[in-house]
Amino acid sequence: MSEKLRILTGDRPTGKLHLGNFVGTLANRVKLQDEYDCFFLVADLHMLTTRTELERLQQTGENIREVVLDNLSVGIDPDRSTYMLQSLVPAIAEIQLIFSMLVTVPRLQRVPTLKEVMQDLEIEQPSVGLLSYPVLQAADILCVRANLVPVGKDQASHLEVTREVARRFNHLYGEVLPEPDTLIGEVPTLVGTDGQAKMSKSLDNAIYLSDDPKTVEQKVRGMYTDPNRVRADIPGRVEGNPVFIYHDAFNPNVDEVNDLKERYLQGKVGDVEVKKKLAAAINAFLEPIRERRAMFERTSRVVEEILIAGSERGQREAAETLRMMKDAMGLRFISQQ
Ligand code: ATP
Ligand code: MG
Repeated sequence: MSEKLRILTGDRPTGKLHLGNFVGTLANRVKLQDEYDCFFLVADLHMLTTRTELERLQQTGENIREVVLDNLSVGIDPDRSTYMLQSLVPAIAEIQLIFSMLVTVPRLQRVPTLKEVMQDLEIEQPSVGLLSYPVLQAADILCVRANLVPVGKDQASHLEVTREVARRFNHLYGEVLPEPDTLIGEVPTLVGTDGQAKMSKSLDNAIYLSDDPKTVEQKVRGMYTDPNRVRADIPGRVEGNPVFIYHDAFNPNVDEVNDLKERYLQGKVGDVEVKKKLAAAINAFLEPIRERRAMFERTSRVVEEILIAGSERGQREAAETLRMMKDAMGLRFISQQ
């Protein structure tokens, strides 16, 4: 196990995981869990970058539970992979502190997601924490010396920062840290049900992995499609149409999808039929996920136990990384164990 290359990736406990999380990163996690030694991080400290109000923080415990259950329900096996809770691995914060000396403020101000998040959440000035989100992420990834990071496309610019930090550290102090590769999912960024560029936990435009069949039907019925198509006999646009993007991603019946697309382009099918078939496909896709979730939910304290054991391993690895870093930096004045 120890000679396997490592993966680290994670989710913020800001709510339940959704179809976008699945195609962006969860699918790759499931696929690679045997080939790699995998670490999955529930990034509760990252959550603080955009959430500080007490009432909302009180939901964190529940959200942590949901995010872990979501990962379990798509098939990420806790016996093969390490689940960790960021705040239970305090060495991450110390590593971040050291990294923050190696990145300039203008470099972080140029990260495109910063502007996007500020716009989406109407934040006028970023806190120091929000600005250094990518530095904390570098600490998450490098604390276990990960080689590969499966994420959605929105995270790609952050991983550039991780690589730069590793390169800078190694240049200054010697080869200690890997420069991890990014692995983007099959659908790099899944659009929201409202047609917004990104399905997001924070934007209320998501179909969740734990949604029941009725909720899925309702959400699909209300989905944004081609706004110019006011009647079923008007030829519609397939390209970039969220309903067809979802069909391509979640409906394995290619013939059905092609037939719907053809008729849509000719104005020979109503949105109702297209959406009905989409809801059925998504529900079929979610069914085994729901079943696995229900199974884990029946075991009490399962999430707590998985996180405690995983975080202990994470903390051991992160302490080892910190020791290696400090050795390289000549920072270990008195030798400690
Ligand atoms: P929040 O709105 O709180 O930021 P989120 O929906 O963006 O939540 P995260 O926890 O930030 O979810 O991201 C978890 C992982 O899912 C990341 O790898 C991210 O790139 C990926 N991801 C999130 N949304 C999408 C999406 N719409 N399409 C593809 N990947 C996504
Ligand atoms: Mg996000």
